[in-house]
Amino acid sequence: MGDGPVDPRRRVPRTDTLLADPRLAAASATLGRDRVKSVVTRAQERARRGELHPDDVRDAAVAALPAPGPRVVLNATGVVLHTNLGRAPLSSAAVAAVVAAAGHTDVELDLSTGRRARRGRGALDALAAAVPDAGAVHVVNNGAAALVLAATALAAGREIVVSRGELVEIGDGFRLPDLLESTGARLREVGTTNRTTLADYAAALGPQTGFVLKVHPSNFQVTGFTSATPVKQLATLGVPVVADIGSGLLTADPLLPDEPDAASTLRAGATLVTASGDKLLGGPQAGLLLGDVALVDRLRRHPLARALRVDKLTLAALAATLHQPDTPTRTALHADPGVLRSRVERLRDRLGADGRKAEVVPAAAVVGGGGAPGVELDSWALSLPERYAEPLRTGDQPVLGRVVRGRLLLDLRCVPEEADETVRAAVLRVHGDD
Ligand SMILES: *Cc1c(COP(=O)(O)O)cnc(C)c1O
Repeated sequence: MGDGPVDPRRRVPRTDTLLADPRLAAASATLGRDRVKSVVTRAQERARRGELHPDDVRDAAVAALPAPGPRVVLNATGVVLHTNLGRAPLSSAAVAAVVAAAGHTDVELDLSTGRRARRGRGALDALAAAVPDAGAVHVVNNGAAALVLAATALAAGREIVVSRGELVEIGDGFRLPDLLESTGARLREVGTTNRTTLADYAAALGPQTGFVLKVHPSNFQVTGFTSATPVKQLATLGVPVVADIGSGLLTADPLLPDEPDAASTLRAGATLVTASGDKLLGGPQAGLLLGDVALVDRLRRHPLARALRVDKLTLAALAATLHQPDTPTRTALHADPGVLRSRVERLRDRLGADGRKAEVVPAAAVVGGGGAPGVELDSWALSLPERYAEPLRTGDQPVLGRVVRGRLLLDLRCVPEEADETVRAAVLRVHGDD
């Protein structure tokens, strides 16, 4: 493209002109100006060496930016399921399955007959096998979608009977009652905030009843003079009972004794259980529906089901997670505090002289993501001055910690052990900038 005898070096666009380009300016806002500036400098140098026409410097710099998707961060917050950080990280088996499924797959085809087959049957069969108490299963886009499908198919224009103590907000303004009413179902509130009895439910039932809803208050606890009606009693009412257990435990976990699981809830008599795939199950974002054969079939055939269906990548990740349930979420939940302590000590020791400002401290990790409120997991953290928080968060490899009383705590419970070295390097980089 070179044209004429003008020395190209004299026509290389200036740095401030380039940084004012809307695409590069937008990248500066998310990646940081220094990072974008170094990309720009490299493109300018290529032009000065004659490898690039000066007119192409701008486009070359834009092309050299990292793709504008979510950035990979290290979760040292001690919150196992952090919604802002994408909740559950996938297991390596699930990641491999996603990569493999990215091309053409038999997601909706039976290879033995060459005919169309039930979409995602591998994942559905694995889910059914994991919870034999479920007569049938279905998977939609997320936990909220599972509730929307159930409410629309079973109660639009009719009533959902629900306790006043279970009309919860999950987070970021997502309120369950608003979601349910958006389907055209009416909420028939019963009981009080702290106490709802079987008689309260029974008195509200009538020809308008679509179902009784039981919601796990996943992110708060009511203590004191309280009473809730368990699924086992609701199941005697003679109407469908839909139980939103939230966190997606398929079977009971002794570490979280108060957390409901799908199998026990179905055994207690729930007609339908809804849950998320990316909470305690440790899988991809998905909404799980498990329960009565005829009811699940009705949901599956409802026109709305098509709008809520999951893609092949989710199905692949879910099948792999169910097949090999040793997920990073489970590893983080069950991590041994003694092991965490020695990892933090090793991290501090390997900071060398730079480790002077760092302390090894006990910490309390939590499940998060709408699960097991009130459960604290004994953990260990590297404690640093609070001013480390911002550079660690905005560095090339963002590391997210938790600020407690003027100190930044880097809790290693949710950091894979092989990433300890990355944490060390990130901390050292901040030391270097001091
Ligand atoms: C998390 C949660 C939801 C919403 O599930 P998503 O997968 O986030 O859509 C609904 N109900 C309860 C009880 C939850 O904990």
